[in-house]
Amino acid sequence: MYDVHSKCADDFISHEEILDTLAYADENKENIELIDSIIEKARKRKGLSHREASVLLACPVKEKNEEIYRLAEQIKKDFYGNRIVMFAPLYLSNYCINGCTYCPYHAKNKRIPRKQLSQEEIRREVIALQDMGHKRLALEAGEDPVRNTMDYYLKSIETIYSIKHKNGAIRRVNINIAATTADNYRLLKEAGIGTYILFQETYHKESYLELHPTGPKHDYNYHTEAMDRAMEGGIDDVGLGVLFGLDKYRYEFAGLLMHAEHLEAAFGVGPHTISVPRLKHADDINPDDFDNGIDDDTFAKIVACIRIAVPYTGMIISTRENQKTRERVLHLGVSQISGGSRTSVGGYYEPEPEDEKSEQFDVSDNRTLDEVVRWLMEMDYIPSFCTACYREGRTGDRFMSLCKSGQIQNCCHPNALMTLKEYLMDYASPETKTIGDRLIEREVLNVPNERARSVVLENLRLIEQDNRRDFRF
Ligand code: SF4
Ligand code: SF4
Repeated sequence: MYDVHSKCADDFISHEEILDTLAYADENKENIELIDSIIEKARKRKGLSHREASVLLACPVKEKNEEIYRLAEQIKKDFYGNRIVMFAPLYLSNYCINGCTYCPYHAKNKRIPRKQLSQEEIRREVIALQDMGHKRLALEAGEDPVRNTMDYYLKSIETIYSIKHKNGAIRRVNINIAATTADNYRLLKEAGIGTYILFQETYHKESYLELHPTGPKHDYNYHTEAMDRAMEGGIDDVGLGVLFGLDKYRYEFAGLLMHAEHLEAAFGVGPHTISVPRLKHADDINPDDFDNGIDDDTFAKIVACIRIAVPYTGMIISTRENQKTRERVLHLGVSQISGGSRTSVGGYYEPEPEDEKSEQFDVSDNRTLDEVVRWLMEMDYIPSFCTACYREGRTGDRFMSLCKSGQIQNCCHPNALMTLKEYLMDYASPETKTIGDRLIEREVLNVPNERARSVVLENLRLIEQDNRRDFRF
């Protein structure tokens, strides 16, 4: 029985409700009157329900789809301006006792080298990441209660925050680890994590059970209810995601939005971010073995529909996608991207030898962070290394209300310019620096409040002339 408030996964991600939603979307996918009314509602920037958004996703009418894309672009601009937040993944360990059939870290894969970074290795990796210019990390690890313990994670987070190399610092550590208890989530919160990320992989319970045949992750309900426990443990910024390609994308889309609606209904805060990974080739994994792969057009439509359904939720894309795809979806709604990523355990400090590769998936965008930053600026985006909200205590409902009212932009834009300036001073190539300085000169005029503008100008001067760092609104 569908119940958005229930704490039971079978109720808030009700299979029947998803099937009804898909049938409703099929019946109405060419109902122009209804589609127009949904688009009109979306224009108010208050979001859409999973049913409404599913109708738009199913709609094959060319002119309506063009309207949907235009609206997604406009909402993206209204909420996020031309800023793109930068981050990098840091893989701590690929030991894993689960049997996920789509991931090379599954326990039965005896070919892949298993590694867990020591605190000294983490130090080296973090210094290498700082030297690239990163300020925001997403920690990644497999599930192994003996090796990858909560103590190990807490120590690793402490190590990462403690490293101050030259002008570098990791200012926000997000973490993507297996579902755990509310008490453990509380410990992660106390250790100062930003977002807790956990991908659902698939919302289709039957498929989920088949795709996760062994290990603790087999427990669909425990996994799906993890965000509730995270919120109960005090983590109010959570990141959702599905792995597109595992099951039918329209089913996943409806499930994802129902999950967001559930968090909003039960805790008053929707997801902080949504990630949109697609299944990719990796050691021991051939994406062609899974028959629900989606093409680039469908992928773009999903991104656009998520953008207008949950306008206030950040959207993340990783280096799983190539430059061309990333470029397309940046316009439609993605607000955070990784750059210069390694998806192996270690590899930032020194590349892994050919016969010891431990990557979780093949990277499709192999450019350096400097190249990604330059590319963004050449398209008039502002790469932002901002981490201000979490450090100013703007999380959970406080963050969401600032977001929904649009006030957050008064912080995001100046912070983007100041953190970009830091990047240009400390890490950029001369060519990137020239382009970036010109961009900042232009963009600073777009800080609407005169007083704020003069503060930004003074801080930019202090960053350049006095080697001062870490200004934020
Ligand atoms: S997806 Fe996560 S839990 Fe599953 S095998 Fe890979 S690392 Fe382990
Ligand atoms: S001010 Fe907050 S919302 Fe805006 S970019 Fe910085 S951390 Fe993100």
